[in-house]
Amino acid sequence: MQLSKSQYVRGLQCHKALWLYKHKREVITPTSPRQEFIFAGGHRIGKLAQELFPGGTEIEHDPKNFDGMIEKTRALIDQGANVIYEATFKSRNVFIMADILVRNGGAWDLYEVKASTGVKPQHKPDAAIQWYVIQDHLPLGKAHIVHVNNDYEFNGELDISQLLAIEDITDEVLELLPGLDQNLDSMSDMLSQNEPDIPIGPQCADPYECDFKAYCWRDVPSPSVFNLYRMDKHRKFELYHAGKISYADVCGEKLSKTQALQVDSALAGEAYIDREAIREFVDSAVYPINFLDFETFNSAIPKFPGQKPYRTAIPFQYSLHILHADGEIEHREFLADEHRDPRAEIAQKLAGDITAEGSIVAFSQSTEKSIIRRLATESAEHEQTLIAMNDRFIDLLTPFQQLMYYHPDFNGSFSIKSVLPALFPNDAALNYKGLDIQAGDMASMIYADLDRIDDESERQKVREALLEYCKLDTYAMVMIWQELRNTAGTSGLSP
Ligand code: SF4
Repeated sequence: MQLSKSQYVRGLQCHKALWLYKHKREVITPTSPRQEFIFAGGHRIGKLAQELFPGGTEIEHDPKNFDGMIEKTRALIDQGANVIYEATFKSRNVFIMADILVRNGGAWDLYEVKASTGVKPQHKPDAAIQWYVIQDHLPLGKAHIVHVNNDYEFNGELDISQLLAIEDITDEVLELLPGLDQNLDSMSDMLSQNEPDIPIGPQCADPYECDFKAYCWRDVPSPSVFNLYRMDKHRKFELYHAGKISYADVCGEKLSKTQALQVDSALAGEAYIDREAIREFVDSAVYPINFLDFETFNSAIPKFPGQKPYRTAIPFQYSLHILHADGEIEHREFLADEHRDPRAEIAQKLAGDITAEGSIVAFSQSTEKSIIRRLATESAEHEQTLIAMNDRFIDLLTPFQQLMYYHPDFNGSFSIKSVLPALFPNDAALNYKGLDIQAGDMASMIYADLDRIDDESERQKVREALLEYCKLDTYAMVMIWQELRNTAGTSGLSP
């Protein structure tokens, strides 16, 4: 049976994943919008990497005619081409497309492009299977990984030779070659039989999140041992394979304080509430209370001066709900123009929007505080105002993470996306599922590409979706705050 490079890599991760892909593809989880953004980002890096080796010819992708792609590649080689992008070859029933192939004297060098910031273990078999196939057609010299250099700092003009780093992995590839025949034989043998009986395990997310999890994990109950807070993944599978799957099963096991509370609370079917601690927490706030949330983007290809690939989170948006002592709630917000560097504008607007007195509440405050710290260093005019803000923070994560309040529906997660539905299960106004954008990483990816949308009305629609999403984040915080205050004020059993 014929295999592509990506199918071979899939088979290395798990034989069952390859079998399902070949014989039962209808149970695959479709590609999510998040994954599509990631693929598009990787594609852009691939295109930039081609500029490191200019003057090449690209073999156009034609999934219905791989033989045609192979013929075109052969023709280019015969015509004396020196650089070929997506060069396509087939040998021993495996076909591959090499990102960049460069003639180097009497041999050819292979360049595999990755959007990561270094060479990862899984990149080596990926290059090795390409070498294995190409060596039947061409003499090969070196194998490389081209990856993003996250030390590169953008200074206003993109320098691709600095943005991308090249690492020679020839020795590692040559070491892997002797095992390839055996790997391919065992995959071929496995594919000719019935669905392999492979239990779920750490391989389901390593090195890639498997797209057959919905199928293979269908009998794992929720909650289960896999929801236990910060338990090592190998320990989780150890318990799972010993038949200790549900919370009732793990009762007698050695658990951390949070894990034990998680299990006890779920089995009792009721929340754990330390009213005294919650009262102390909510009483520490000073009115007016500013509920603040930023959205940032952090791209592989930097856009603004001082930005480093994947390392500099640029804030482009915030939402601010202000709760006054008399119960009045105000909303303020900012969303940057997608064509400009947002930092100076967001610093200025924030300095004016946050009240001069009163607490600032964030959910997991370290993110908001570090953004403000960085904005302060970049804005001489507002530096003092911004720096002073960081002394006024209260972290809304604290009552949950420090177990003042634990609800069984948190399922071992203290993110706002877990806390909110547990506290307000039937409130449509507090449900992210009704929004076009439902998570911060999506907001970030969507904004990073917003300036590529030419249609003004389409861009406006996306901007509105971004505003709605961020607004819900801070409105949710206000509601959670009020709920904590109500809880602290009620009588009842405390631990
Ligand atoms: S979910 Fe796990 S067991 Fe199932 S195919 Fe994927 S890696 Fe294999």
